[in-house]
Amino acid sequence: MRALLRSSAPAGRFDVAVVGGGPAGATAARLLAGSGRSVVLIDPGRRMVDRLEILSPSAADVVDGLQLDRLLSEPAVARLCAGIRRRWTSRHLEQEDFARQHGRCGFVVDRAVFDRRLQALAVAAGAIGMRGRLVDVGSGRQGFELLVDTGAAAVALSASLVIDASGRPAAAARRLGGRRVLSELLTARRDMLDRPDLPSQDAVWLDVDGHDGSWNYSVLGPDGRREGWSVHRGDQRRQVRGHAVNASAAVLTQPAGNGWIAIGDAALAFDPIASQGLFTALSSAMICAGAIASEGSVTRSVASTYSACVMATFEYSERGRGEIYRALRSDRA
Ligand SMILES: Cc1cc2nc3c(=O)[nH]c(=O)nc-3n(C[C@H](O)[C@H](O)[C@H](O)COP(=O)(O)OP(=O)(O)OC[C@H]3O[C@@H](n4cnc5c(N)ncnc54)[C@H](O)[C@@H]3O)c2cc1C
Repeated sequence: MRALLRSSAPAGRFDVAVVGGGPAGATAARLLAGSGRSVVLIDPGRRMVDRLEILSPSAADVVDGLQLDRLLSEPAVARLCAGIRRRWTSRHLEQEDFARQHGRCGFVVDRAVFDRRLQALAVAAGAIGMRGRLVDVGSGRQGFELLVDTGAAAVALSASLVIDASGRPAAAARRLGGRRVLSELLTARRDMLDRPDLPSQDAVWLDVDGHDGSWNYSVLGPDGRREGWSVHRGDQRRQVRGHAVNASAAVLTQPAGNGWIAIGDAALAFDPIASQGLFTALSSAMICAGAIASEGSVTRSVASTYSACVMATFEYSERGRGEIYRALRSDRA
């Protein structure tokens, strides 16, 4: 990312400003730049998400559509994930074998490397990478005026369309009228575990354990690093030792409006138990780029259809999440 993002201010006005260079933002920037639009991709370039995550086989069509197969076959980016072994009760082991049940393996993705590669694809497609943090945005006479803090200066930009892909902060959408609603506060804490001696080409399993209403998992990454995460209720980021992050499920009440749209975690963030975040980041970037290509903009009608879909997805996911936590609690009883 260091080399991909410019610290100096890019000149002029853009068709599209993409705020946030995670999987959602980098993918939307790549698709829109590839279709001939002038795109600026704004990201602070530090404090990137740096953890191992599962890209489940349910994302296979999106992976194919975005032609990410080659990227995911790079040994530094991902390794194959054979499936999930869940021990929801102390007695019973559930095994979800991806190849047998879905016809295809999943991936364990090293997010820091994956995100950098996606940003490189966006820049190769013609997007301009800008290192900075959006600090303000508002609608102007011809679209949107954005203020970006580059660390050295506050830079003003203008764009006809704004895509908020800033993740949980929803930095643009909240300034444009979106309100973030949390279903439940959750904290995830990481423990680095020992490195087992397993050949790097072997597919690995995600091991999930649940007890007392909380749960934890461990997984082995492409470089042989093994991470364990435990997810607890409440905001425990100050109490727990080590690396802890917000893992709450959340949704924006208004994820799009005239000329702007929020995608990925900015629109809809899942409890990690769903393993759905990467799929949604990539698929919402495709939906957003497709809508802009067919309608020419984020029209009021696109915004209202998209908002209804985001809310329906959130409600569906929350029902599934509720069932899982009920099962975890009943195990204790
Ligand atoms: C502990 C944990 C484990 C998870 N495990 C999985 C998993 O196994 N599988 C899965 O599919 N999902 C998982 N997720 C969810 C997944 O991490 C997210 O869904 C995914 O990161 C969303 O991508 P995104 O591009 O929308 O946002 P992000 O990856 O959060 O990217 C947002 C980008 O915007 C930038 N940004 C923020 N504010 C600003 C600003 N003001 N101006 C400019 N840029 C800004 C950030 O620096 C960042 O680079 C997990 C989440 C957690 C918390």
